[in-house]
Amino acid sequence: MKKIIFLLTIMLFQNVLAVDELKDVGIAKYAVLEVVADNIPIREKPDENAKRITHLFRDTVLFADKENKNYYRVELDENKYFWVNKKHVEVQAIIPEKRIDNVKKISFKEEKNKYKINLETDFKTSYIFKEDNTNLDFTLYDNYFDNIETKVVNKKDVFKIPEKFVRDLSLKYTSNKPLFGYDIESYEEGYIITVKKAPKVNRKRPLKNIKITLDAGHGGVEKGACAFGLEEKTINLQIVKKLKKEFKKQGAKVYLTRKKDKKTDLYYRIAYAKEKDSDILLSIHQNSLPNIKDIDKKYGVGTYYYHPQAKSLAENIQNSLLKATKFRDDKVNYASFAITRASLPVSVLIECGYIIRKEEADKISNKKFQKIIAKAIVEGSEKYLKDNFMQ
Ligand SMILES: [Zn+2]
Repeated sequence: MKKIIFLLTIMLFQNVLAVDELKDVGIAKYAVLEVVADNIPIREKPDENAKRITHLFRDTVLFADKENKNYYRVELDENKYFWVNKKHVEVQAIIPEKRIDNVKKISFKEEKNKYKINLETDFKTSYIFKEDNTNLDFTLYDNYFDNIETKVVNKKDVFKIPEKFVRDLSLKYTSNKPLFGYDIESYEEGYIITVKKAPKVNRKRPLKNIKITLDAGHGGVEKGACAFGLEEKTINLQIVKKLKKEFKKQGAKVYLTRKKDKKTDLYYRIAYAKEKDSDILLSIHQNSLPNIKDIDKKYGVGTYYYHPQAKSLAENIQNSLLKATKFRDDKVNYASFAITRASLPVSVLIECGYIIRKEEADKISNKKFQKIIAKAIVEGSEKYLKDNFMQ
């Protein structure tokens, strides 16, 4: 009972605070905002560290009803509110009611390994993707579509526009296999959504023809973590080169975001992986801690994912690395890194070991041990493909 009262008090207190700090955006109800750059996050709370709900392109139109210090509050789903930093938007007008736009045309195109859905619309409004294993739900807010159709692409993969929406467009994708990467691009006439088809995986050679981009973390002036005379960027590249060899042996097509010791932009790394039409993006790192005082708290190998579709890949790689390295388990972790936030390709980040721990630094910098690491990552990737996509 005490606990309940305590929780209630906190909830009430939070409510009071929130209402207190909120200000109306004008005498009329909504401020029309336009996003001024690409890849702008919409967050769960008015805070730079709050969870990201979605990312928007330049020129996206948003409607804000309240403001709180550096943030505007935007209503996406009815009565669901999220936040955008004021520095990322410009106020275009103050209006009494939301303007609801109209999607002019939706067209589907099937390519060899992907589907492309083109949404033509006069104004770009905000959207959210939701993933659930074999389902992908896309909602385009404040943009309705009155020409209802059900598009069955083939028996395994189905796109549906489920019902007539007065305000938002909903597009649902269902497959008989787990999701294998998706993306959205913005162009003058609207949006193009890409959904990758599940790969056809062969039991004996699961990696055959799978396209893999390998990313050696950091590079050039960005050395990454350093300890015992070792630099993370160098170890990352050494492991990536061994990975390339092992993946190629198994029939995969391999691309490297950097082949040399060169400073490389994070978003370039993702753009490069997309340009190569990669299926999987693996980013290789060696771990450290922001505070060396915590050195006795963290050990071993850890793998990071952001999108649910990448979790199985992360788990398989982690299990395989644990067995091969005998390092302690720093777990499969959900993490919002630029690399893991890529939804195309399926992306994970691997911290092979802690460079700041002598016993681990000795191993991750050892050529023979690096080969053990590389083989384990390849085996984990094979198991992911077999578990999820075998015919
Ligand atoms: Zn790193």
